[in-house]
Amino acid sequence: MRIVLLGAPGAGKGTQAKRLAETFDMLHLSSGDIHRAEKASGSTLGKTLARYMDAGQLVPDDVVVDVMAKAISDPKASRGLLLDGFPRTEPQAQALDAQLAELGAPLDKVAVIDVSAEAVVERICGRRSCPKCGAIYHLKFLKPAVEGVCDKCGYKGQFVQRADDTEAVVRQRLEAYRAQTAPLIDYYKKTSPDKVMVFDGNKAPDDVTRDMVAVLNKA
Ligand code: AMP
Repeated sequence: MRIVLLGAPGAGKGTQAKRLAETFDMLHLSSGDIHRAEKASGSTLGKTLARYMDAGQLVPDDVVVDVMAKAISDPKASRGLLLDGFPRTEPQAQALDAQLAELGAPLDKVAVIDVSAEAVVERICGRRSCPKCGAIYHLKFLKPAVEGVCDKCGYKGQFVQRADDTEAVVRQRLEAYRAQTAPLIDYYKKTSPDKVMVFDGNKAPDDVTRDMVAVLNKA
């Protein structure tokens, strides 16, 4: 199965993507994670990416398409592919369609997680992660069992906030979503109307997973 996951920053794409990729045995490609890894490597490309990412802006299409085309050509994608955070603009969607057509492996579904802007700001600004294993927590909604200790790896200390999870940057990222990514829902409704599925992302994460798994099981 090949799926594109669409939704505003903070809609819960990352959480749902990990669960769905495991349930349906798909290669999970998070464009945000791939870009952050490149940025952290300190390469010339990474330095270019940082300029856009730290300002909450989208990275230019030609750069993103290149980075993601390489990731998508991974042979592991032949068993199934879950794209999380890519495409984010219409030119990126067209480039993806062209690459998948060439591979003879078109998309099966476009899953949209719909969530309100206010919920997004509260969710993202409270998000923290374990610097050792990457486990994700929330100051209000998802605290570790013991304060300051990671449930997953036992790390003790400060959890960290992503550089682009501050309120000013979140509002910028939401604006980028509204202006550039939300129109993709219409793009897919026009080009592949029977593939688009919309889920209520204001529900609790486990309920969203249940809704998605139920629908995808029938796909
Ligand atoms: P994310 O974790 O998905 O919110 O991505 C973090 C940042 O990486 C975004 O704010 C963008 O700067 C960059 N990025 C990730 N995916 C894309 C994409 N498909 N197009 C443009 N920029 C992207």
